[in-house]
This record gives sequence, structure tokens and C-alpha cells, in this order.
Amino acid sequence: MKRFFASATAIALAAGIGTIASAQDDAPRQVVFTNVNIFDGTSEALIENGSVLVEGNLIKQVSADAIEAPDAFAVDGEGRTLMPGLIDMHSHLCIRNGMLEFRDNYDQMANGAYTAIAMQDYLDQGFTTVRDAGCNILGIAKAVNNGIVPGPRIYPSGAFLSQTGGHADTGSFNDVPGDQDDLEAHMFGFIADGVPEVMRAARHNLRAGATQIKVMAGGGVASEFDPLHTTQYSLEELKAIVGVAEDYGTYVLVHAYHDRSVNRAIDAGARVIDHNFLVSEETIIRMKEEGVALSIQAVMSLEAFGDPESITFFSADQKAKAAQVNSGAQQMMEWAVKHDLIMVTGGDMFGPDLVRQAENIIWFNDEVAKNPHLSLKTATSNAAEVLTWSGGMNPYKEGTLGTIAEGGYADIILIDGNPLEDIHVLKRSNVDFVMKDGQVYKNWLPDENAPAFQPAGPRRDAYFGNL
Ligand SMILES: [Zn+2]
Repeated sequence: MKRFFASATAIALAAGIGTIASAQDDAPRQVVFTNVNIFDGTSEALIENGSVLVEGNLIKQVSADAIEAPDAFAVDGEGRTLMPGLIDMHSHLCIRNGMLEFRDNYDQMANGAYTAIAMQDYLDQGFTTVRDAGCNILGIAKAVNNGIVPGPRIYPSGAFLSQTGGHADTGSFNDVPGDQDDLEAHMFGFIADGVPEVMRAARHNLRAGATQIKVMAGGGVASEFDPLHTTQYSLEELKAIVGVAEDYGTYVLVHAYHDRSVNRAIDAGARVIDHNFLVSEETIIRMKEEGVALSIQAVMSLEAFGDPESITFFSADQKAKAAQVNSGAQQMMEWAVKHDLIMVTGGDMFGPDLVRQAENIIWFNDEVAKNPHLSLKTATSNAAEVLTWSGGMNPYKEGTLGTIAEGGYADIILIDGNPLEDIHVLKRSNVDFVMKDGQVYKNWLPDENAPAFQPAGPRRDAYFGNL
């Protein structure tokens, strides 16, 4: 078997050139992972000492035995755990220090720079897919798909939809109705009221490639004008947004915390509730019965909001709201586990805290589920299932995500340790190898196991021609 030497083809690979072709012919390049223990994204047990064959950007074979692939480049995993790339279901790639930062201090150029850094942070920690829950990210998602900038797969929601005075209203106190606030100016969010406006906002996102629609359906923490107890958007408005999403073959996720807002969103047809931390057990049971998924922000609610004083950019009011969310979080998550909801992990972290993204799963497991297998599924196969709800707007239909299985996308990470035994091993410093779509973005393996295989950078051939 070949190794990763700095051949012309390896350089082409390193440069991140589209579907990988060998120098000799047009056949897709093969990579075989050997000596790995495989968590396939669903099974409770690892496949011990297995092998995985990748061809081009897809997984071709998964085996408990050696795989015969004489022309493949070999990566010796040395007993590491091979598992699907992680999926964060609630990113805000363009935000660094809260939603209000762009009002006075920065512009859209900074927005793009933040996003580039955030995407690198994600890849470095083994996150190969994110569902962005609101940001001006539609153009960058396109650039990632076109190989211009390195980043995880992005399921963008585009600008979040908020009513006047809703969670995404970042205007000034003296705004008059219709004034454009800074979030709108930067296309982070749309302030839209009434059925025609919300329909136009939803369609505007979908027109530019949003894969689902994000709606602020109740009070939030990191905002100024919406007390936490508020219910946002009328049933009529919510139904109109869901109708637009369904006409495009996709779905609506909502930001909501309490019974009134969550139940109204479900009445309207929303399929995913993000946050949800102040609901009753009855609402959890309803979510189970109606197949509504829960997107959990464990680090945010349990840790960060457990110590609101540590969030330096929060006002006193925002800190009080954070404490209130923290008070319900543990109980809600226990009910969600008890009633076996469809649970996914959505970090909702940004800025400097993003370097701890993988610990969302650790927190969720340690504090509530006490079940590493379930915790891992929230960021792999469970998340991938919800991503398929984007239906016709799903940009990644060639393979499956979140599983190590034949026909799946080659989104693969190698972990030093077994996260099914000890979830704490799942953190940045133990993520030794990251492949997305068959390309390598991180390689900390010893040279003799996968030598000279540099992380994929920007698509240099776009600037320098084919190397
Ligand atoms: Zn959020």
C-alpha cells in the first residue's frame, strides 16, 4: 500500500482540489484506514480493530477485518477511535462577541473574518458539519462548497426572522417603526411583522440558499427588548413562515424557551425547538408524540449561564435572564432523556469560547444523560437525521452524514481514546485527524502513520493554477 508522501498527487490533495483524482488516471483516490476502533454513529459497541476504505469523497467499505486495497493510501490509526465528523446543530459562525457588537464597532468585513476563524476552529475540533442558526452566512456556505475557503459543511438558515422587539431586534431605543437596525444592515436578521413581511423574509433566505428557516418565537437572553417570558410571532405569522418553508420542501426551527412559545410554534408546524429550557414535562411529552426534535445548548445553559457574571459583554438584565434559563435547564434535559426525544447538540457558542465546542457533548453527558452513546449520537446520527429534514434544500444528498457506513460521506475523525467509555477524551487536543468530503483538514498523526499529508487549505489552484 502507498503512504502519504509528498508526491504530486499528495500536494494536489493538500491543496484541497475538489474530487480527488490520482495522477495516473481519473479513478477516484482511495484511502484506507487501518487499525482503528470504529464508532459508526449508531451502534453501542465499537468495531474493534477495523478498517474503512474511502474512495473519492465517499465511504466505500467498512469492515471488522483488513480491507484489500492495494492502490489505496494507508492511514494507520494505531488503535484510535474512528468516528463520523461531529455535527453542531446551532452555530452562529459570524458572531464573535454577541449580537450587538456590529452595531457600533465592526462591519461586514469583520463578519467574514470572524467566520473564517470560526470555521477553522470547528474543523480543528472535528466538527465537519454545522447547522447555522442565524447569520449572514449564505455566501460563505457557497464559497465553502466551491472549495474557495476551508470550512465545515454548512446548513445555513440565513438571516433569522424576528418580530419588532423580538430576540433579534438589535435596534436603538429611539427607533421608529420600519427603521433598519444593525442586524438587518448586516443581513444577520430580518425584522419582519405581519404575514406578507415574514413570507418575504423567509423567501429571501431560501432564494439565496438557506436550507431551513430560523425564527425567533420567544424571549431570549442575549437581546435587549424582549423579556424572557414573551411569546413572539402570532400563530398566523408562524404558520405563514412554516408554509413558505414547506413549499421549498424544508422546515422551520425556532428559538423558544417556555411552554407558551414552544407550543405555539408546534401548533404552527415547527419541527425543531432550540433551547426549550423552561418548558413543562407535558410539553416534552407533546414533542415526543409529534416527532419534534430538541436542539440542546448544554454548555450555554448549564455552564455559561450558571455563572452569568463571567459573560463580560452581558448587561445586568441579560445576566438575570441567563440565570433564569440556567434554573430550568437540568430538569428539562432530564425529561428529554426520560421521554426519549429526538435530541441533537447545538452549541450556540461563538467567539473565544468556540475553542471548547466539543465539550458540549461532554457537558451534556456528564450533567444529564450519563450515557456516552446517547451523547455521541446527538452530534452524529441524530443530528444527521434532522439535517435530512431540509429535504429538497439539502445541499448534501450524494451520501449520508453522521455515520460510518458504505455510501456515507467521507467525513471522518480519529480520536485518541474511546469516547464511548470516557466522553472526556472527546476534545480538541485528542482530535488527531480530520477528513471532510475525502479531504484532510487536520493531521496530527506521526509521520510514519500518515506522512507528509498536510491539511487542506484554500483551493490554491484557483489562484496559482494546478500545482
Ligand atoms: Zn443561537
